[in-house]
Amino acid sequence: MASSSKKVCVVGAGVAGLVSARELRREGHDVTVMEQSGGVGGQWLYDPRTDATDPLGVAGAQSSIYASLRLNTPRETTAFSDFPFFPSNDGTGDARRYPVHAEFLRYIRDFCDAFGLMDAVRLNTKVLHVGPLALRAADDGGVKRWTVRWSSRHGDCEGEVVTAEEVFDAVVVAVGQNTQPRLPTINGMDMWSRRQLHSHSYRAPDSFEDQVVVVVGCHPSGSDISLELCTVARDVHISVKSMDDGAVFPGMRQAVSRHHNLHLHLQIDSMCEDGQVVFVDGSSIVADAVIYCTGYDYLFPFLDTGGLVTVDDNRISPLFEHTFPPALAPSLCFVGVPKSVVVPRFYEAQARWVAQVLSGRKSLPPVADMLRSAEEYNRARETAGVPKRLTTTSSTWSTATRSGRRIAGSRGWRTGRTSSCGPPSKECAMPRRASVTTTATATLSSRACAHRAGLPAGRRRRRKTRG
Ligand SMILES: Cc1cc2nc3c(=O)[nH]c(=O)nc-3n(C[C@H](O)[C@H](O)[C@H](O)COP(=O)(O)OP(=O)(O)OC[C@H]3O[C@@H](n4cnc5c(N)ncnc54)[C@H](O)[C@@H]3O)c2cc1C
Repeated sequence: MASSSKKVCVVGAGVAGLVSARELRREGHDVTVMEQSGGVGGQWLYDPRTDATDPLGVAGAQSSIYASLRLNTPRETTAFSDFPFFPSNDGTGDARRYPVHAEFLRYIRDFCDAFGLMDAVRLNTKVLHVGPLALRAADDGGVKRWTVRWSSRHGDCEGEVVTAEEVFDAVVVAVGQNTQPRLPTINGMDMWSRRQLHSHSYRAPDSFEDQVVVVVGCHPSGSDISLELCTVARDVHISVKSMDDGAVFPGMRQAVSRHHNLHLHLQIDSMCEDGQVVFVDGSSIVADAVIYCTGYDYLFPFLDTGGLVTVDDNRISPLFEHTFPPALAPSLCFVGVPKSVVVPRFYEAQARWVAQVLSGRKSLPPVADMLRSAEEYNRARETAGVPKRLTTTSSTWSTATRSGRRIAGSRGWRTGRTSSCGPPSKECAMPRRASVTTTATATLSSRACAHRAGLPAGRRRRRKTRG
């Protein structure tokens, strides 16, 4: 082990935590990954529980994915740089280019096996508290070590729970961003006695059969769930902030014109006790259920930084390049915070940067410069009219690329050590969901794959849309 090796705790064994473990080990660090669930994969570890007792909260479920979910990012880009996401050899999986969620979980498990990561992972281990061993000012070398307290469960839910504490040189927070529901505030919402849930708790459409359902929000989950529901529900009413393209997911206008029971509305003005939902244009319907597809909040309940890192309206600050809190860097860092980036490739680049900074192979700018950079980034977003809650959403490819170059060096984050473009599969059609990111990645990768297959890229792109 290198003399600059550190004892590092990674919180979370989703793709961000696992790739952090791999990169940290490559750099010679001693890694422990603590994962509260009984398996690795994070969001991709499908959990059929629907949080019936707390449909607007989390009530224990970590994963927000629903039964029918297929990736809306193609195999070629949804892969670690040196571990291609090929269909399984035995033909038991889903070989499509946009496969179902279980196929991606299989890939994540294969990644763990290939790089021997499981011996670093402690499953059923929930981190309860991360705090500095001794809080020292940044100009006095900053925080050097962290105390991590966790509870560990053996066996099933009934198993014995043990709580313990351990000191680490560094902590990588990789707990994801899609678990804590973000809810709107709507007049009468508290009084509305019918079924309300967040998309976090949605699993399957069956229980909405013949019902009138309002879906709030029309981004990937909102459009996906609406299209699934309209096959069983009597009517599905999608409520959007505005009729601008940014608020209505690409393809949804056409979908609405094709499905007699799918309707598009502006925002909800109020909800009444008798089941009425009134929209801002004065129109109203009586609904059986409302599903909020309104996104998620960052949440780090275990993190005690003495106020040096705060989360305000989904802005985590200050964070240099969405990774290092300047005053606590490099011993505390975050992997997996940016949204709308290519996952897991971007997180891999972040993890490599973290590993190299911790070993001393790369250095960070002075604390004051990192702070200035983080503040300038936030100010620039504000000047551009980006709401605070979208601070970490990479607005354009150039933003992601700029940030990625800084993190990954001149090679950037899109190029891996080797190409991960797998063989083109027979089924290239996109799933219902499609995102702006996806469209860009699909265009890039379909060109690459079409090239491999000797096909003109346009032939694949024409097959992209689907009801
Ligand atoms: C509905 C849905 C669809 C999506 N579709 C796509 C897609 O098609 N393509 C794509 O690229 N991305 C998609 N994503 C985004 C997806 O979340 C990311 O691709 C990626 O899986 C995020 O990985 P992560 O490791 O950052 O977080 P997560 O997968 O959320 O993993 C975080 C891990 O941290 C653990 N954890 C949390 N708190 C603690 C604690 N206190 N102690 C110990 N462990 C803890 C959790 O149990 C979890 O295992 C989708 C997300 C959702 C919700």
